[in-house]
Amino acid sequence: ASGRGAAAAMSPLQANNLSEADNIKVAVRVRPLFPHETERGGTSVVQVSSNTTIKVVVPGPAGTSMQRDFAFHACLGPEVGQADVLHLCGVPQLLDAALAGYNVTIVAYGQTGSGKTYTMSGREEVISSDGYSGGDTQHDGIMTRALQHLFAAMQARKGDTKYGVAASYLEIYNEGIYDLLNLKAKNLPVKWDAALGFYVPGLKQVPCTKIDTMMDVIRTGMQHRHVGSHELNIESSRSHAIMTLTLHATPADPAAADYGAPRMGKISFVDLAGSERLKDTKSEGAMLKETTNINKSLFVLGKVISALAERDSAGTSAHIPYRDSKLTKLLMDCLGGNALALMIACCSPASTAVEETLSTLSYATRAKNIQNRPTVQYD
Ligand code: ADP
Repeated sequence: ASGRGAAAAMSPLQANNLSEADNIKVAVRVRPLFPHETERGGTSVVQVSSNTTIKVVVPGPAGTSMQRDFAFHACLGPEVGQADVLHLCGVPQLLDAALAGYNVTIVAYGQTGSGKTYTMSGREEVISSDGYSGGDTQHDGIMTRALQHLFAAMQARKGDTKYGVAASYLEIYNEGIYDLLNLKAKNLPVKWDAALGFYVPGLKQVPCTKIDTMMDVIRTGMQHRHVGSHELNIESSRSHAIMTLTLHATPADPAAADYGAPRMGKISFVDLAGSERLKDTKSEGAMLKETTNINKSLFVLGKVISALAERDSAGTSAHIPYRDSKLTKLLMDCLGGNALALMIACCSPASTAVEETLSTLSYATRAKNIQNRPTVQYD
């Protein structure tokens, strides 16, 4: 059977034991408590109680405390190493779905210092060292491991299917878009096209025929994120970074009966800005003004998530404010419709961060209530 034939027999969702309700999966990752936090009297108040549940002990007045329990698709404790994050969060299934034509997004959310960049990209010192594979790969994050999985999967199928991959890497800071693969491209616009949806004209697209080229894209993007933030005097914790792979699949045999337009898939890896100061994404007035100035995109993402969750639980057709920020415009085709998304909510276990952790977990709970509705039929 050709690659297409195999995909036609079963949707990627069915093939991976997923239902439509799983189109948005939410995982929580709790990082270890650092020695400097313990030295300052911090204790761990967040505990992963099972593969899917987590509890937070919230300190109250006069030595009292209250336990709050949360449930997610996957809960990863501080002992979980980088190599295990992928399969515990179902990333290989998502990548296979992208190869079969889905839009896939993997988003890291959480307060600054909670482990978003570590989870998505790995240790920065490893990424930015010369000679990527010579580095300490045990700390590699989801992006590099995902690219390895993807490349191996494309190689394994090359008898049936020919894949083309192009990579782009951008940063959104204060509603400005910067091309992390071309530092001269600043303040790029977002445009709408009926066929493409929202896109960034002029954004550098690097064709990747080799895994080394993909790795170079990650390394260059991360280095430029540092350089760019230094030049502009911005904190990188206030910016969103999005690395996107666009996939085109055609049958390897040009004479194949089903040789037609390429099947398109897309994978975006999103390292969001720190979520602190966004304690209540529904509040208006002063909070709206502050968050609008500091990070409109993250604020609007919260509103989009709330609106989608409300729409899905109430079964209504509410207005979803995708167009209100650059980030939500660019993620529009990932949240809703033919899309699969994984949100990894990153948390510190420290007692000193408990308020932020609770806020992250309630944001993640809202995201869990969204059900993307696939429009593509695999029949
Ligand atoms: P964020 O991107 O959320 O601001 P980082 O990813 O930069 O946070 O993490 C803050 C620090 O904690 C970094 O030094 C990072 O290497 C470390 N760290 C984060 N998560 C883990 C983890 N699960 N295991 C070990 N170190 C971690």
